[in-house]
Amino acid sequence: MSLQLSKRHEWVMQSEIRNMSIECDKVGGINLSQGVCDTEVPVVVRRAAQGAMDDGWNTYTRYDGIDELRAAIAWKQKMITGMEVDPEREVVVSAGATGALFCACLALLNPGDEVILFEPFYGYHLQTLVATEAVPVYARMRPPKWSFRQEDLEAVVTPRTRGIVICTPSNPCGKVFSRDELQIVADFAEKHDLFVFTDEIYEHFIYDGLKHTPPATLPGMKARTITVSGLSKTFSITGWRIGYCICDPRWTQAIGFFSDLVYVCAPAPLQKGVAQGLKELGRGYYEKLGIKYQDKRDRICSALFRAGFTPHVPMGAYYILADISRLPGSNSKEKAMNLLKNTRVACVPGEAFYHDRSGENLARFCFAKEDSVLDEACRRIESLS
Ligand code: GLN
Repeated sequence: MSLQLSKRHEWVMQSEIRNMSIECDKVGGINLSQGVCDTEVPVVVRRAAQGAMDDGWNTYTRYDGIDELRAAIAWKQKMITGMEVDPEREVVVSAGATGALFCACLALLNPGDEVILFEPFYGYHLQTLVATEAVPVYARMRPPKWSFRQEDLEAVVTPRTRGIVICTPSNPCGKVFSRDELQIVADFAEKHDLFVFTDEIYEHFIYDGLKHTPPATLPGMKARTITVSGLSKTFSITGWRIGYCICDPRWTQAIGFFSDLVYVCAPAPLQKGVAQGLKELGRGYYEKLGIKYQDKRDRICSALFRAGFTPHVPMGAYYILADISRLPGSNSKEKAMNLLKNTRVACVPGEAFYHDRSGENLARFCFAKEDSVLDEACRRIESLS
């Protein structure tokens, strides 16, 4: 028998988000494809991480995170959302929200378990399910409000359904699930006894006076919800890989064991830096993020409108799905490549967020950029008008 790649490898592909970053680098373009978030890191976070290295915090930590960080996560969750969290038994720190979700799926899903994904979806959610041998099924959200009905969920549920994924605020469409919508999901999850995996990494990127509601705060939801988040976006440290999940103590140990198996622990001095940031930065810091990013959103939405790429104006997160049908090309990849060639601005082809061709006229633009870079990208996009 010849050497060959595993079957699993055939199920998982390089993400289109990464592909477009690579294409962007080749032409020295402005990367609005990957949500890199290269804005400034709060000084307190940087200094504390540097200090931790100097003070010798350079070896393995407890597999589920240092005490100080788990305590800071629990404290901040309570301060912002009112959620009571036991830092000793209900928090697992992992390598980014991506690592936390992956470990949660490994710990809680069996091969063949079906999991409902709202569509448009974030490709890493889909591929995480596929890689852990769960089976994704899709519930479509419809613009302009990316709405859905309970019937849409009932239409895809089967005796094999074990979970549902909620990304709020949503990557890629910017939907912020309202309390009423979350109640629909909560009733549905209770009726069919499902896990609810949430991705709340954009929890502080909320616009137009809206509010983020963690699904776990709805009555009865805490026991079945795996709340996944991290500091990558909030502190602009996407490369540090500090994320976590909060859930019932029945699940944390197994999730932590998988995190130990793959990562052993999250980077020690960076855990210290994040813990210090969480302790020192108050509510005001998080509120300012929303204001700052709303301004960025408005700048790029205007440019997209002017260029004839009608944007779906997001309520939260830092991406915009826009209609790029006026560009030449027979699918969203060709259109995105055309945009890159002509403007040296990279976006993600819309088909990366749908399981069928529904995204063929869409592209996702990330606006987590310093204003000067964003303005230059806007100028290039507008030059097409
Ligand atoms: N979450 C970011 C995005 O959607 C980064 C993804 C990644 O590189 N894995 O672009």
